[in-house]
Amino acid sequence: MKRLKSIESVLRWKWYPDIFRIPVLIGFFYLIYVLLFGDQAEGKNSGLSVMWVLLWALQPILFILFGRFFCGVCPFGEAGDMVQKVVGNEFHPPLFLKKFGVWFAYGFFILILLIETMVHMAGSTAASSILLLTIFTMAVISGAFFRRRTWCRYLCPLGVAGGVFSRLRIIKLSKDDKACSECKKFECLQGTEKSAGCPMGLCVRKHDLDADCISCGNCLKNCPADSPRILLHSPVKGFLSNIKLNQAESAFASCFIGFSIALYLIKDYLDKINHVVGFENPVWNELLVIAVFTGISFLLFYLFSYVIRPITRQSQKYNFRFFGFFLIPFIFFALVNLTSIHGVPLISLQRRHVFEGLGILAGSILSIIFCLQELRKVQNNRQQNKIIALFSIFLVVLAGYTLYLFLFL
Ligand code: SF4
Ligand code: SF4
Repeated sequence: MKRLKSIESVLRWKWYPDIFRIPVLIGFFYLIYVLLFGDQAEGKNSGLSVMWVLLWALQPILFILFGRFFCGVCPFGEAGDMVQKVVGNEFHPPLFLKKFGVWFAYGFFILILLIETMVHMAGSTAASSILLLTIFTMAVISGAFFRRRTWCRYLCPLGVAGGVFSRLRIIKLSKDDKACSECKKFECLQGTEKSAGCPMGLCVRKHDLDADCISCGNCLKNCPADSPRILLHSPVKGFLSNIKLNQAESAFASCFIGFSIALYLIKDYLDKINHVVGFENPVWNELLVIAVFTGISFLLFYLFSYVIRPITRQSQKYNFRFFGFFLIPFIFFALVNLTSIHGVPLISLQRRHVFEGLGILAGSILSIIFCLQELRKVQNNRQQNKIIALFSIFLVVLAGYTLYLFLFL
């Protein structure tokens, strides 16, 4: 674990993050302009390439390096902040939004991937601009009514789902425990004359920073005790340093496995699916495949968390949350496959399947290694072996089936 003082200095700099936010906001409006008024012929609109090849593919890399850094410079959040300053409303988000907003966000994220696959949104300037303008409008409405970044915290499909993948980040915001334990005023959250408080409503001492911190730098500017710090972790230690996952994140992770397998199939084997499933309308075939694969992966994981109770001596709910955390490496590689590898032009189908297969293998191996590392701390050897064997069987069945589909379909 190494302290990165140079990055801390950048985050403390008075022009950060505006130096990134303003050009990104201008770039966003230019992107909308190009999408709406640029060349509309398939493959000719540069706005589509920037959005679906460059930005979409960049996200997994940013997640693993800096977590939700992009949220800190995101034009949606920036527009919401600007409207908030002008309108001046500071309502607290309603309780139901805090409790259930993330379900909406995960659902919206899955819907975006679904529509992207089914209507090939990456090839449609109209669909892509509608998506961007819809998210933009929602962020602005949220900023007009609710305090801080309510949209980014509870509702944004890219931000909230990105928070799950950001748990793998290797460059993290951390704190000096002693300084924070003596703190009385929580300037990181409340703000000072130097800078506003945390836009995500986080107190460095109390909150889970890995999933929600957007690296805006406000807490580094505000803290009188110089407590917040940026640390470089090894991927394993960094990931295991903060095992926190709620029911919603675990449900999302377990559904995402089957969902991503279904999307691979739809992208590459639509004719075969139409032939096998047999509805006249191909949309029904696609939806059925998605529902079946998503449902099966969720049910398998639910079953696993239930069956394993006598060995872990924990409740099904606890197991569901605990092991859901270790699905993150697996689903991270599924995300890389869907966003990055599919975005690379000029790569043959066969070669792409090899990369995708390797990604699935790497994800499942990492999930097993991370889980084993953690179990060593909390279980004796016999229990540890039984649990890891069952967890491995669960992953090997899923990964093996996915590989089979890639290689032999
Ligand atoms: S980061 Fe600073 S302001 Fe925030 S709780 Fe710790 S010591 Fe207090
Ligand atoms: S904890 Fe809050 S204030 Fe500090 S960098 Fe993260 S988002 Fe910004």
